Amino acid sequence: MRTFHTATEPSTAWSGTAAVIEPEPWMANALCTQVDPEVFFPEKPDTPELARKVCGSCDVIEQCREYALRTRPRHGIWAGMTLRQRNKIKVTL
Ligand code: SF4
Repeated sequence: MRTFHTATEPSTAWSGTAAVIEPEPWMANALCTQVDPEVFFPEKPDTPELARKVCGSCDVIEQCREYALRTRPRHGIWAGMTLRQRNKIKVTL
C-alpha cells in the first residue's frame, strides 16, 4: 500500500527516498494507496507501465498531476509520469 506521510510522521513505505510530503485532502482518494508501493517506485524509474494503468483509473489524477508539477517530487511515479517526464513539463504561474 502506498502511503502519504506528513512532515512529522516518518515514512515507512518511502524510507530511503526522503519523500516526506504535506498531505492534501485529495490524497484520501488516491488509488495508489491500495496497491504495492513498488509499482510506483519501480527499480527502473523509466518503466512506469503498471503505475500508469493504476493512474488511468484514479479519480484524483488531475489533482495528483497538479500537485506533482507544483511540488516536484524527486522520486516515484505521479499521475503516470516519471521524474524525467515531469521535468520536461514547464509550469507557468
Ligand atoms: S494519479 Fe496515480 S499516483 Fe496520483 S494519486 Fe492517483 S494512483 Fe496515485
